Amino acid sequence: MGEATAAVLAEVGAERQRQDARWGQQDHAPEVWLMVLAEEVGEANQAAFEHLFPRFDKHAAQRGPRSLADYRRELVQVAAVAVAAIESLDRQSGSAPS
Ligand SMILES: [Mg+2]
Repeated sequence: MGEATAAVLAEVGAERQRQDARWGQQDHAPEVWLMVLAEEVGEANQAAFEHLFPRFDKHAAQRGPRSLADYRRELVQVAAVAVAAIESLDRQSGSAPS
């Protein structure tokens, strides 16, 4: 594993810890996890869109313009939710990662 990959995965791990601290262990059905994941993908999409097209950003006046750092932060959340969904599936199916 390269250094860049390890650094990003560490960020995803830290985001997983934040999620657990905020929400506790979550054991949803697969379709619910997919909705949560889609919501996070939507936030990443919105951050990228508002960065590229700031005239459509309704909240820029309050919080400032969106940056690619906002998009990146949302992508880390997407990855962390995907990890949480895998963890949940493994717990519910009793299967250990192979
Ligand atoms: Mg998000």
